[in-house]
Amino acid sequence: MKIQKKQKINHSCKAIVFSCIDWRLHLESDGYFQKKYKTFDMFYTAGSIKGFLEKENRRLFLKQIEISRTLHKSAIVALTAHHDCGAFGGMSNFKDEREEFAYYQKILEESKNIVLGAFPDAKVEKYFIGLQPDGKLWKTSLKKIK
Ligand SMILES: [Zn+2]
Repeated sequence: MKIQKKQKINHSCKAIVFSCIDWRLHLESDGYFQKKYKTFDMFYTAGSIKGFLEKENRRLFLKQIEISRTLHKSAIVALTAHHDCGAFGGMSNFKDEREEFAYYQKILEESKNIVLGAFPDAKVEKYFIGLQPDGKLWKTSLKKIK
């Protein structure tokens, strides 16, 4: 009898993406990352990157990156924030969209520095996801932030 050698299937991926649970995003933004990275791990939580900024959740968030890097050799950490995020109080928390965007730019940068503090060699990418009503559904627009 021939003994079959266990085939080792490569299951490494390019990135781990942090995203909000908000369903309005996923109709389009998941497809964007699929196109961009093809293979990626995804961590959905309300507020996406919010946990990096919360002392009690930071370890859990960094752990996801560690696991993704160890098991799937992901090199990119993609951080997202989006328009009208309920976890941050939605739009009513901001004077206008400019103020909102400035706020998310700031906390995306803070989150990036937290990630780099733990994983100095990680390639961190930041995205802001715009949202516009489109009939009963929503259209997204992804913007990569420098
Ligand atoms: Zn949200």
